[in-house]
Amino acid sequence: MKLGHLEFHILTDGYCYLDGGAMFGVIPKPLWEKKVQPDARNRIQLAMNCLLVHAGHKRILIETGAGDKWTPKLRDIYNLGESRLLDQLLHYGMHPHDIDVVINTHLHFDHCGGNTRLAHDKVVTTFPNARYIVQRGEFEHAMAPTERDRASYFPENFAPLQQSCKLSLLEGDRAIAPGVELIRVPGHTADMQCIKLSGGGKAAFFFADLVPMTPHLQLPWIMGYDLYPMTTLENKKKWISEVAREEWLALFGHDPHTRAGYLRERDGKVEVEPVTID
Ligand SMILES: [Zn+2]
Repeated sequence: MKLGHLEFHILTDGYCYLDGGAMFGVIPKPLWEKKVQPDARNRIQLAMNCLLVHAGHKRILIETGAGDKWTPKLRDIYNLGESRLLDQLLHYGMHPHDIDVVINTHLHFDHCGGNTRLAHDKVVTTFPNARYIVQRGEFEHAMAPTERDRASYFPENFAPLQQSCKLSLLEGDRAIAPGVELIRVPGHTADMQCIKLSGGGKAAFFFADLVPMTPHLQLPWIMGYDLYPMTTLENKKKWISEVAREEWLALFGHDPHTRAGYLRERDGKVEVEPVTID
């Protein structure tokens, strides 16, 4: 997909499975299971979509999925398969050392697990030449999470980056390359960031966990994981309308079926017109 001088591809690290109730918060199961079928353990399938962006001569990777540093027990809990991200990068001719910038929208394990990998039982950075970018508030929280969200943060995914001085911590919105804007959007966590890509008069917006899957376009469908659900609600109103009104391409981080689409607002309801891009 091209946006003026900017080019991007949607990749995936594979799938993970999370509790359907937790994914839809206050929405009763009889409603959400009409949209998404749970498995025998009440889990639903989530994709872990990532973006590869070519901006000028910069190669930017947005999100790194769950990676491969998993114990069999946790693999089973989340029904994680093999990490696919590096193979998918290779498909576009990219080796790990070709990546200049890695952006994590936040530091939950399904967004940054591929930041690092195991080499002879040692944790090393997967993308040796990359600067990794995350919001400072997210990093500080990830290093000292609460009892409620500590299960989502694995220090081996991000602490080694700071030790090796590969981490850039942002405070608020920032354009990191022409047409690549990081926008702090709190709600899921206090300092999650979404990404706006633009060029040639067009734009695309990566919702991260503000709208992880298309059913979450309905305003009250907010994940139980969100630390600040009322802030999520405010930001959903703001960004869903903006993306629909401006006719930006919406990019969904966790939807296994619809990775991209245009939003149409009809009679107060938002519908997606899916677009296939690779
Ligand atoms: Zn997520």
